[in-house]
Amino acid sequence: MKIAAFNDDRVGVVRGDQVLDVTDAVVEGGRNWPPTHVSTLIAAWPDRADAVRAACESAPAHPLSQVSLLPPVQAPLHVVGAPANYRKHIAEMGAIGSGGRSMLDLGFFLMAPASLVGAGGRVLLPRGSERRFHHECELAVVIGRRCKDVPVEDALSHVFGYAALMDLTMRMTEDLREERTMRKSFDTFTPMGPWITTADEVPDPQDLRMELFVNDELRQQATTADMIVPIAEQIAMVSSVMTLQPGDILATGTPDGVGDITPGDVVRISIERVGGFSIEVEEASDHAPVRF
Ligand code: MN
Repeated sequence: MKIAAFNDDRVGVVRGDQVLDVTDAVVEGGRNWPPTHVSTLIAAWPDRADAVRAACESAPAHPLSQVSLLPPVQAPLHVVGAPANYRKHIAEMGAIGSGGRSMLDLGFFLMAPASLVGAGGRVLLPRGSERRFHHECELAVVIGRRCKDVPVEDALSHVFGYAALMDLTMRMTEDLREERTMRKSFDTFTPMGPWITTADEVPDPQDLRMELFVNDELRQQATTADMIVPIAEQIAMVSSVMTLQPGDILATGTPDGVGDITPGDVVRISIERVGGFSIEVEEASDHAPVRF
C-alpha cells in the first residue's frame, strides 16, 4: 500500500494516478496540531490496516496531479541522520568532511523534523548566500513501532515503510564550521516523499537503485547495497540510545555525487520500488543564518 499525506493533513492511499482520501477511517474530527494523522495510522496499523483497505472501496478519489503532497509523516518525533555512510562520499568530501571517518565511528545525528517538506512543496535557499548548498540522495526509513534496544536480527520488522529523501545541507568552509544540526535544519531542507511505500512492497531494502538529477543532469547514482552501516544496524544503533516511535524517520546516508543546488534548479530523486518526485529550488525572502 502507498500511504500519502496531502492538502490539509488528509490521509490518502495512492492507487495508480489517484489518491483515495481515507482520512475518516483514520481519525475522528478535523484538523489536529501537531499534524499526526499518518503517525497515528502507523501506530495503529496492525488494527487499522483492514479498515483502511475497506475504506478505499468507497473513498473520494482525487487525481494525484491535483493534490499537494505533504511529507508523508509531517511531525515525526525524531528525524535521524546517518553521517558518512557510503565510502565514495567520504572520499569526495575530503578535508571538510568527516576526516575519513564513517558512521561506524560517528554514530548518528538529528535534524529538525520541521525541515521536512513534501513533493508538493518547494525548497527555499537563504537569500543572497555565498555558501554552497548540496543535495544528498537518501533512502528514508519510517519506523512502525515504538522500540528500544532492538537486536539487529529483529530490526527490519520494526520498519513501516520507505520513502525517498533529499538531505539538503549547507556545507562547511575552511573558516565556517557550524554544527551539522543547523546546517541541515533550514525550513524545507528535507524534502521527503512522494509517499510511504509499505515494507511488504520492498523485499530487500539493501538492494535498491537510487538516482538524483538536477535539471535532468544525473548527479548521483548508487545502490543501497553500498551502505557501510546497513538499515538493520542503524536501527539497532539508534534504538540503543533512544526509544524510536511510530513515524520516526531515518535518513540512511548519501552516496557520492553530492553537488550544488541553486535557485531555479529542479531536483529529482528516484528510488527503485519506493518512488520518486521532483521539487523546485527557490530563494527565500530572508538571509540566514543571522550572524552577530
Ligand atoms: Mn545526509
